[in-house]
Parts: sequence; structure tokens; C-alpha cells
Amino acid sequence: MPLSPYYAPALARYSITGQAFEALPKISKSVLWSRHIERLNAKEIGVLHKLKPHEVAFETARAQNEFRKAWVQLHAHHNSTSPECAHYAHTLAAATPTIEGDERARNISDHLITCLRCAILTEELDHIEEHLNIMLKPLLHAPNPDSHDK
Ligand SMILES: [Zn+2]
Repeated sequence: MPLSPYYAPALARYSITGQAFEALPKISKSVLWSRHIERLNAKEIGVLHKLKPHEVAFETARAQNEFRKAWVQLHAHHNSTSPECAHYAHTLAAATPTIEGDERARNISDHLITCLRCAILTEELDHIEEHLNIMLKPLLHAPNPDSHDK
């Protein structure tokens, strides 16, 4: 049997996705969990977290962005990451490299053409963001680390 969070939920918190999620502030984790796992709409999230509609939109966008940054940073700090790739990771985490006229964005685009590793990571991150409901699901069955503290 493969060593996958889907077959062994205890491993879910050790996956890059699990670690990125766990690194988020409590409100960001809660909003993402409500949205992607509990499938609550914006109004329900607002009631649950005592947020106004514009605050729900803001917190959801911020949580998505924080997750993206945390996920890329975990990859950037891996031992096998070259200094050049780590340099681009900071910008990759923040924005899509399609802004015309932006020198930094152009440099990232050049890097993604020549670096298979970063191109794959970017593609994988887009996929994870698109299917966060599925990617976070193993955490549903993962042991809660907070339960050991109390
Ligand atoms: Zn690279």
C-alpha cells in the first residue's frame, strides 16, 4: 500500500499541503475549512465566524494567499532547492507571472520556461488551489495535534 495521506491519515499533517494548512493563522484555517470541507457559503461563514460579508470575502482571499505562500515556502526551503529557484519562489508565492510590463513577472516567466521543477510546482500549486476540498480531506481523519496538549 502506498504511503499516502489518503490511505494513512496520520501522515496527512506531514504532507506539504498539510503543513502549509497547519502553518496558517487560526482564522485562515477556519475560513478555508468552512469553505472547502464543510462547503459553507459566504453567508454561513459570516454567521459562524461573526464576520460581515465584505470581511468574509477579505478573510477568504487572505487565507488562500497565505496558503499559497506557505505551500511555496515549504518547497523553497527544501534541501534540494537551488538558490535560483528559492529566489523565484518568493515571487511565485505572491502572484501569477502574467502581469505585462512587470520586469519581475517577465523574469519568472523566463525561469518557468527553463526550470522544469518550478514549472511543475506552479502547475501543482494551481491544481491544489483548484481542488483544495480534496487536498485537505485527509486532514479530516488525521489525529488532532492539539488533543495531546490538553
Ligand atoms: Zn526553478
